[in-house]
Amino acid sequence: MKATFTLGRIAGVRVGVNWSVLVIFWLVTVSLAEGRLAHAYPGHATGTYWGLAFAVAVVFVASILVHELAHAIVARRNGVEVEDMTLWMLGGVARLKSEAPTPGAELRIAGVGPLTSALLGVVFGFLAGWLGVLSAPGPVVEAVAWLAAINILLALFNSIPAAPLDGGRLLRAALWKFTGDPMRAAVIAAAAGRGFGWLLVVYGFASMLVTGTFSALWTALVGGFMIAAATAEGQQARLRGTLAGITVRQIMTPDPVTVPADMSVERFLATVPFGHHRHTAFPVVAPDGTLLGLVTAGGIDRTPWQRRATITVAEVMAPLDDVATAFPDEAVSDVLPRLESVSENRVLVLAPDGRDLVGIVSPADIDRAVTWLAATRRKP
Ligand SMILES: [Zn+2]
Repeated sequence: MKATFTLGRIAGVRVGVNWSVLVIFWLVTVSLAEGRLAHAYPGHATGTYWGLAFAVAVVFVASILVHELAHAIVARRNGVEVEDMTLWMLGGVARLKSEAPTPGAELRIAGVGPLTSALLGVVFGFLAGWLGVLSAPGPVVEAVAWLAAINILLALFNSIPAAPLDGGRLLRAALWKFTGDPMRAAVIAAAAGRGFGWLLVVYGFASMLVTGTFSALWTALVGGFMIAAATAEGQQARLRGTLAGITVRQIMTPDPVTVPADMSVERFLATVPFGHHRHTAFPVVAPDGTLLGLVTAGGIDRTPWQRRATITVAEVMAPLDDVATAFPDEAVSDVLPRLESVSENRVLVLAPDGRDLVGIVSPADIDRAVTWLAATRRKP
C-alpha cells in the first residue's frame, strides 16, 4: 500500500495516507450530509449538515489513526519498531521493522487494533446516549451515534480471519503457535485473505446484477484491494522463508561508491551510468565522510534540467531520515519491509556504531540471493 501523501510523524512514526482514504472521506461526508443526517432530522440549514458531516469524517479518519497507533505502541512494547504506517480505505497498514518475535507478540500487536476500535465505539455510544439525555440537537446525536456504529463495524470487519486484516494476523498467530512454522502460517493467512477477497468480488458483482444498482460495486472494489494485498503478503512470506537465516552482511554490496554532497548534479551526471557510477542510487557523504542521504536516478529525474548545473547532489538527495537503514548482522527477512518503504528501494547498511556506511542493499542484491538460494538449496 503506497502512501500518496504524508501527515508527518505521530509518536515518532511516519504516517502516510493512500488516495483511497480521500474516497472514503468524501463518501462519508456526502452520504451523511445529503442522506442520513438530512433525512433523519430535516429542517436544519444545508451548511449545518455539511459542516457536521465533514467533522464526522475527520473524527472517523482520526479513529482509524488511533487504531493504527495502538498497533504501533503495542508493537514497540513487544520489541518491534514500526517503520511507518499508511492509512487506506480498509483502515491502515503499519509496516513493522521486523517480524513479531513470538506468536504471543503477534497476537497482542494484531489484537489491540480491533479492541481499540471496539472501545472507541463504546465511548461514542455512551457519548451519543449522554447527548440524547441532554437533549442536544438531533443531527449531533445522530452523528455521534454513527461514529459509534462505524467503529464497532471496523472492529468486526478487522477481526475477519483474512490477511491483510488484523484477523488475518490473529489467524497467523494461532497457526504459528499450532504448527511452529511462521512462514506456513503466513501463507495460509494470505490464502484466506485471497479467498475472502474473491468472495467479496463475487458477492459485489452478483448483488449488482440482482439489484441493478452500482453501490454493490463498492464491495467488489474492497474485495479487489484485499486480493492484491493478500497476494503481496503471501509472496513476502515465501520470500522471507527462502531468505531465512541469511544476514544483511551476506547479501549487501559492501563499501558502495559514494557521491560528495557538494558535487553539482551536472558533474555527477557526467559520470553516470557507464563510468565509476554504474548504479541507480548512491549514498551521499559530507567532506568529512558523514553519511547525509541517498541520491537516486528518480530524484535526479525530478530536477529540471536547466537547474542541473547549479544545484548540488545534496539538494536533490533523499535525506537520511527518509532512507531505510540496517545493520550488517540483522536478518535479511527483517529488512525486506524496509526495502519497500519510501527510500527508493534501497537500504543503507551502517556499522554497529550507527554512523559509518559499510554497504547498501538493493532489490537486485535480494534477487541475486534468492535466485542462488533457490538453485543451490537441496529440495526436501
Ligand atoms: Zn488494525
